[in-house]
Amino acid sequence: MTVPIEAPLRHSNGAHWGRFVRTIIELETDEGLVGLGEMGGGGESAAAAFAGLRPYLLGHDPFDLEALRFKICNPTASLYNNRTQLHAAIEFACLDLVGKRLGVPVYQLLGGRLRAEVPFASYLFFRHPNPSTGEGEVRTPDQLVALARTLKKRHGFTTHKLKGGVYPPEYEAECFEALAAAFPEDRVRYDPNAVLSVEAAIRFGRRIERLRNDYFEDPTWGLNGMRQVRDRVAMPMATNTVVVNFEQLAQNVQHPAVDVILLDTTFWGGIRACVKAAAVCETFQLGVAVHSSGELGIQLATMLHLGAVLPNLSFAADAHYHHLVDDVVQGGKLEYCNGCISVPSAPGLGIELDPDRMARYAELYRELGGYPYDRDPGRPGWYPLVPNQDWADPTVGGPVALINQDSALENR
Ligand SMILES: [Mg+2]
Repeated sequence: MTVPIEAPLRHSNGAHWGRFVRTIIELETDEGLVGLGEMGGGGESAAAAFAGLRPYLLGHDPFDLEALRFKICNPTASLYNNRTQLHAAIEFACLDLVGKRLGVPVYQLLGGRLRAEVPFASYLFFRHPNPSTGEGEVRTPDQLVALARTLKKRHGFTTHKLKGGVYPPEYEAECFEALAAAFPEDRVRYDPNAVLSVEAAIRFGRRIERLRNDYFEDPTWGLNGMRQVRDRVAMPMATNTVVVNFEQLAQNVQHPAVDVILLDTTFWGGIRACVKAAAVCETFQLGVAVHSSGELGIQLATMLHLGAVLPNLSFAADAHYHHLVDDVVQGGKLEYCNGCISVPSAPGLGIELDPDRMARYAELYRELGGYPYDRDPGRPGWYPLVPNQDWADPTVGGPVALINQDSALENR
């Protein structure tokens, strides 16, 4: 599926080129029930990867979720064939099936709901203008604050996350300070996707540490880098890059580098893995939040059911969802109210696919194909080092030709 977003979103590695590409799976039982799953990316390789797992799934009881985990991605076989993200999509579909079979929402299968709605952050990006309308650019502090005001008015957000790592750190610090100043009652958080050097991260962190920060998210790469920043900056550290499995979580418990773990239902291999990880975090009193890797309604539902059952979720969740112009689920996009989205209460994940929308966005994928997430259409040939030393120029704006994939990959 390809679903358009309002404007191309820039990040430290490249950009989302004006659309999200996702793969939707449907698992059917012998009783005729259908369970839904979703994974990032798409195309022939994703379809082939799921088709390759057919023999593993034929005859497997969707209730047998622990058996499924070891069947598809036991830790030593995963050294040769990492299927964590495929497993996640299949687990979503199995939980959807189990819920539908029992007539209960997924949160009932996970220990029961502690909240009826999940709060979300505004998740602001620097953006190229929409190539069709010329609207939607975010490059200057004024444009950033204007977008945050629009989103706050539309959806009620009271937490603002800036995805940085695009422009020079001093410039992004100015943008972030403008954001914090514009919403003195709200919470803020900054995430440059791990591209700052340890030294630059410390400088940045010290500059912003007096603001109403939830945390400092992945300012630099690696557990050791994060630990050095943590030692020198008076702010909790958060990650969705260096603690994304249980092995790394154990390391982080023994040698703390990060205070808040952003759980991602895809990266961790399913909703249940995230619930287990949250329990480890609860035990050791680490914070948890909900990560977004771009989602349509199915994945969003997994994030809502997860958010509903975590006792220690004390931060607004992340979602790219409000950047989408539509969704593939019946009724279109789920709505925000006062910055929150209600947890679906129908059986299973609680959402259903809309066949017309599915057909439309499958066709759009066939028309446009994929896009390289790690390339920016505004900077052909560029790729970042880690730490990055070649930032985008904040004085250069305006429309960007959405060049084709091949020209984005050419070296210049
Ligand atoms: Mg992040």
